[in-house]
Amino acid sequence: MTTQVIDHRSGVWSIAVPIPDNPLGHTLVHLLETDRGPVLIDTGWDDPDSWDSLVAGVAACGFALTDLHGVLITHHHPDHHGLSAKVRQASGAWIAMHAADTAVVRRTREAEPGEWLDYLIAKLAGAGAPDDHLAPLREARTSGRGRRLPGRRAALPDRGIEPGELLDLPGRRVRAIWTPGHTPGHVCLHLEEEHPGGRAHGFGRLFSGDHLLPGITPHIGLYGDPDDSTVTDPLGDYLASLERVGRLAPAEVLPAHQHAFTDAEGRVRELIAHHEERLSGLRALLREPRTPWQLAVAMEWNRPWEQIPYGSRNIAVSEAEAHLRRLVKQGGVERVPGSDPATYRAV
Ligand SMILES: [Zn+2]
Ligand SMILES: [Zn+2]
Repeated sequence: MTTQVIDHRSGVWSIAVPIPDNPLGHTLVHLLETDRGPVLIDTGWDDPDSWDSLVAGVAACGFALTDLHGVLITHHHPDHHGLSAKVRQASGAWIAMHAADTAVVRRTREAEPGEWLDYLIAKLAGAGAPDDHLAPLREARTSGRGRRLPGRRAALPDRGIEPGELLDLPGRRVRAIWTPGHTPGHVCLHLEEEHPGGRAHGFGRLFSGDHLLPGITPHIGLYGDPDDSTVTDPLGDYLASLERVGRLAPAEVLPAHQHAFTDAEGRVRELIAHHEERLSGLRALLREPRTPWQLAVAMEWNRPWEQIPYGSRNIAVSEAEAHLRRLVKQGGVERVPGSDPATYRAV
């Protein structure tokens, strides 16, 4: 095991914590020194090797695990929140998360066996998924397999992260920026301190989680709340969150994957342009009425649809639906009245 730690200066480090069997490679867990001891921003995937890397990384920054007094989580995904329970257990640190993502963690922990599969089957059927795609899920439901929702063991946070407020971190100025889209409670954390390199352009550093990455477009799908009947617009949320972060104009971005980068505004403009292009492409595809499933099949992905693994197809459909929500809100697309499964067309 090699420990990859980068000293970003002024009491900020990043620790590369591997994600097993994942093309992303690793999560960049950040360690921030405060007058009360270090805190972590995200923790990494819950896996023995990842844990060893995190522990070795904290040591390489010059601290013991027991020195940690807090954990700030950008969002509930397992590559960020996975090891939080272990860190809390080993150090007594509190865990903080935005309330909207804490609600997801709570719901996941409390879900009855089978509830998640029922929800998934209903969602996919409503999106027009064919029977051969639904069959394995229905079979799992009746045989009682696959009843465990991933993330059932995820730690319930002790604290909230209040948007717009300075966090209680002695000796540091860190403000929470609510950036919903990738998840409903995603936050970026703005370190409102002069950049140690004295960069002339921009102010401070932004821990951007998965919201703003240098070379990856984060997944934007439906939030997936079985209890919520309001029609959310995750892609609309995401685009608004991007603009919010662009206006902050941080001197440097410290994302949770890949590498640190500058010119946040440029990257924001690139991502907004990418989504605008994608939306107009989808609108063109909807000159022929399609269900969300049919739209997902017709959309451009990083490989042909036939080669997209089973589970990733569910994610792709969720992404197609998020784009449909946005198009409907913009008024460029409408649901065909009375269609079941829901069918959409350009207007
Ligand atoms: Zn994520
Ligand atoms: Zn991630």
